[in-house]
Amino acid sequence: MTETESTETVGNFCNSCGRNIVAVENSVTFKCPNCSSQIARCGKCRSRGVQYACRVCGFLGP
Ligand SMILES: [Zn+2]
Ligand SMILES: [Zn+2]
Repeated sequence: MTETESTETVGNFCNSCGRNIVAVENSVTFKCPNCSSQIARCGKCRSRGVQYACRVCGFLGP
């Protein structure tokens, strides 16, 4: 088994914990308020109020 062709889900990993958001309920993707790059957040981090940091501009927030 090889996994060399599974790059279609770029951007679907939680920005806070790195989990694949497809596997977590209530996950969201949205654009950074500061630089409009895509951010993903899983349902667990949302319910816990975990901070995220934009990987592009460093914006912190919920
Ligand atoms: Zn998360
Ligand atoms: Zn940003």
